[in-house]
Amino acid sequence: MASRKLRCIVCGRVFYEGQGVKIVAGGHELVFHSKSCALKFLRSLLLYIDQKELERAVKNALKEFEERLKELEEASKKRIEKVY
Ligand SMILES: [Zn+2]
Repeated sequence: MASRKLRCIVCGRVFYEGQGVKIVAGGHELVFHSKSCALKFLRSLLLYIDQKELERAVKNALKEFEERLKELEEASKKRIEKVY
């Protein structure tokens, strides 16, 4: 099966589908050859988002990850209790 060739939208490097990072956002498929190119693009993207909207989005994303961390911590606490 031939993989599709993709081009990193940040640095122009050509790579095969399945490698790199793909993000679908705003009706676009954004492809990057590496995480660092994706990060570069996302940092720039943040500057163009309405700051009020961004504030709300950051708050929601923070909450999501904080809850995930809490769950992880509780799960590892339970594991420790089981061991002792
Ligand atoms: Zn790149």
